[in-house]
Amino acid sequence: MFSKILIANRGDIALRILRACKELEIKTVAVHSTADNEAMHVRLADESVCIGPPHSSKSYLNIPSIITAAQLVGADAIHPGVGFLSENSSFAEIVQAHNIKFIGPKVQHLKDMGDKIKAKEIAKKIGLPLVPGSKGIVKDIETAKKEVQKIGLPVLIKASAGGGGKGMKIVQNENDIKNAFLSAKNEARAAFGNDDVYIEKYLSNPRHIEVQIIGDSFGNVFHLGERECSIQRNHQKLIEEAPSAALTNDEREYICNLSSQAAKVMGYESLGTIEYLYENGKFYFIEMNTRLQVEHPITEAITGIDIVKEQIKIASNYELKWKQKDIKFTGHSIECRINAENPKTFMPSPGKIEQFHSPGGLGIRIDSGIYSGYNIPPYYDSLIAKLIAHGKNREECILKLKQAIKEMVIEPIPSTLELHQNLLENPDIINGDFDIKWLEQIYLNGK
Ligand code: ADP
Repeated sequence: MFSKILIANRGDIALRILRACKELEIKTVAVHSTADNEAMHVRLADESVCIGPPHSSKSYLNIPSIITAAQLVGADAIHPGVGFLSENSSFAEIVQAHNIKFIGPKVQHLKDMGDKIKAKEIAKKIGLPLVPGSKGIVKDIETAKKEVQKIGLPVLIKASAGGGGKGMKIVQNENDIKNAFLSAKNEARAAFGNDDVYIEKYLSNPRHIEVQIIGDSFGNVFHLGERECSIQRNHQKLIEEAPSAALTNDEREYICNLSSQAAKVMGYESLGTIEYLYENGKFYFIEMNTRLQVEHPITEAITGIDIVKEQIKIASNYELKWKQKDIKFTGHSIECRINAENPKTFMPSPGKIEQFHSPGGLGIRIDSGIYSGYNIPPYYDSLIAKLIAHGKNREECILKLKQAIKEMVIEPIPSTLELHQNLLENPDIINGDFDIKWLEQIYLNGK
């Protein structure tokens, strides 16, 4: 087992990894920008190193600073967390070149899945169902027009290097192909430094279903069930739940087994999530995330498995001596992402938290780095807390969440707490009757 892990991240996820390390009796090193001197992950770590100024390109994405910090403190592994460098294959390569273990999948898998066109090719080869679309990169407007004719409108032009919904353009009308193609390329170039795009059929009312995969370095691969993340705004997830209220048991078994078999064929190691759109009883692969996911706590709740501890153990060559049938799923879990954002305009609302009160009770979990007196810096993601409930069933889970939201105080900054309170009263949410368009097109539009 490792003796010291450097956590190359911040916020709730840094704290989550820190807690897993403590339970494994591993020393922790926090890295932080000058804007995060007072952050909770810095306060609780055994050691901390300031790696640069506030802007993440100069700190949390600054590879030389992070490697120097790891060498300085003698860390034998780096956990990249979520976002930042977590899916950056060059970072993983550089870490390994310095004889430090990168806690994550093989470099080749980071590379393959980071390129969405390559990912779709591999998915096809290993038998996953795809969204109909162009064969590979669409190089020019003429080819784009031909592909659109083949696929049929509406289509989505997507960035091969995509992430966070960036570089994605919907085309409803033939006359819009040129503009959408050029703006998808521009957005992709600005966000990822790579303007390769491809075209996919735009599904009109799909739900987002994803399967959690875990594999070790001995070729053992398992699934930990599915999660549904259809409540989204701007392609960003807001509420996630496990299991999905939409699937039959047969569908669940089919997609979960298919995903773990596919990951086994790939020789996949560590944590991964295979994401699908689900419409009219059919699944369509969209991407594989080669890292820990923000929404992992709901899977932990229904399986009782500490995913982050297992991920760390796997990285130190521990074998998963499990059988798929021994992984049991109990009850229902829902996560609400609480963002420092205005609940109506969704404008970020950084600032000082004067009062923070955390809810409690059986089946309630809060993953957060905030506290009374904490100043939310304006430089990073607006996620400030994850509220997770676990109940015997979906109904009980919603009741627990509603009470927890009532108890929770985050003042005076605006947050999405109020939005969640209203959402959990909505009949469509209560009945599980929604898709990925519901929040924006029905709920927010009608307000
Ligand atoms: P990113 O990596 O940028 O998050 P994804 O491919 O995972 O991109 O897609 C993000 C979200 O965009 C999905 O959850 C879904 O809401 C929407 N989306 C992606 N592909 C399609 C599609 N073919 N049809 C309809 N919606 C889509």
